[in-house]
Amino acid sequence: MRKLKKVVKIGNIAIGGTNPVAVQTMLNVPVKDIAGNVAQAKRVAEAGCQIVRVTVPAPEDAAVVAAIKEAVDIPVVADIHFNYKAALAALDAGADKIRINPGNIGADENVKAVADACNAKNVPIRIGVNGGSLEKHILAKYGAPVPEAMVESALYHIRLLEKHDFDNIVVSIKSSNVPRMMAAYRLLSEQCDYPLHVGVTEAGTARMGLIKSGMGIGGLLMEGIGDTLRVSLTDEPEQEVLAGYDILRAAGFAVAGPEIISCPTCGRTQYPMTDIAKKVEARLQADHFKKPLKIAIMGCIVNGPGEASDADIGIAGGKDEALLFIRGEKVRMLKGDADAIVSQLVEEIYKL
Ligand code: SF4
Repeated sequence: MRKLKKVVKIGNIAIGGTNPVAVQTMLNVPVKDIAGNVAQAKRVAEAGCQIVRVTVPAPEDAAVVAAIKEAVDIPVVADIHFNYKAALAALDAGADKIRINPGNIGADENVKAVADACNAKNVPIRIGVNGGSLEKHILAKYGAPVPEAMVESALYHIRLLEKHDFDNIVVSIKSSNVPRMMAAYRLLSEQCDYPLHVGVTEAGTARMGLIKSGMGIGGLLMEGIGDTLRVSLTDEPEQEVLAGYDILRAAGFAVAGPEIISCPTCGRTQYPMTDIAKKVEARLQADHFKKPLKIAIMGCIVNGPGEASDADIGIAGGKDEALLFIRGEKVRMLKGDADAIVSQLVEEIYKL
């Protein structure tokens, strides 16, 4: 059951409440390379990214926010560390959300300046707690970045904003340790009503990063926790976006785009199934195919159609041919090599 949180608007995207879980990523081009950031922002938007974040280390870097906003239609988040003037400059440049930890920006008047400026523009703030960089006094109290320490840190930053009548807040409480991160989010979700940005931080390169994110983010989503997500991968941000949707799909959320179901193959397989499955997936991805179809690519005619009986369309391999089935009905045999079978299947997919 989804835990219903306060609704927060980030530009034209609303999160919290019953709004769909929004997928976001962060650009990784050097901030001074504005053209490079703009090009990457366009690529992630094309991949389906709904909220894009960019770092703004200093006030003069806020120009990147304005340039990205000019180029894409999705909300832009300015990521700020320590320099509250950079937050104010990013707001002036049109940032739709500020990611900042108020406890890290010095005097209370700095916090008030950012809170007031965000309130005036109705721009939310995300507090981003990271298990690896907890406040010294909290770490000293708990001795380790345990979930309770992370939650205390989040509540500490939340109160610093609430003190200045600011409650347009999103919170994340990430760790690279999956059990710890999950426990922290569960605890925080019980204690606050603000929408949660979920993610496993420093998750790693594609393989381990996907496993950790699938477990951590997917596990929380299945418990009803999470209003927006970012998959952190040591990879291109587009890959983070695609992974975000796949995690949502795997967790049972309605997501646009096809879901490929394929068997692991076994000794019964007599056609180039791995090649075909990869080519079908790549082709639909390149076409930005958006219909939410279940497409099965199965290794053999004996078990394939039955095992994929809930697919909308699928094939099951024979020798140099494949049986096409649509919603459980056997339709006809597709003949030819891998490429010929791929193009005939894709043609049938487009007819549905
Ligand atoms: S569907 Fe056929 S080929 Fe695939 S794993 Fe099952 S038995 Fe093997």
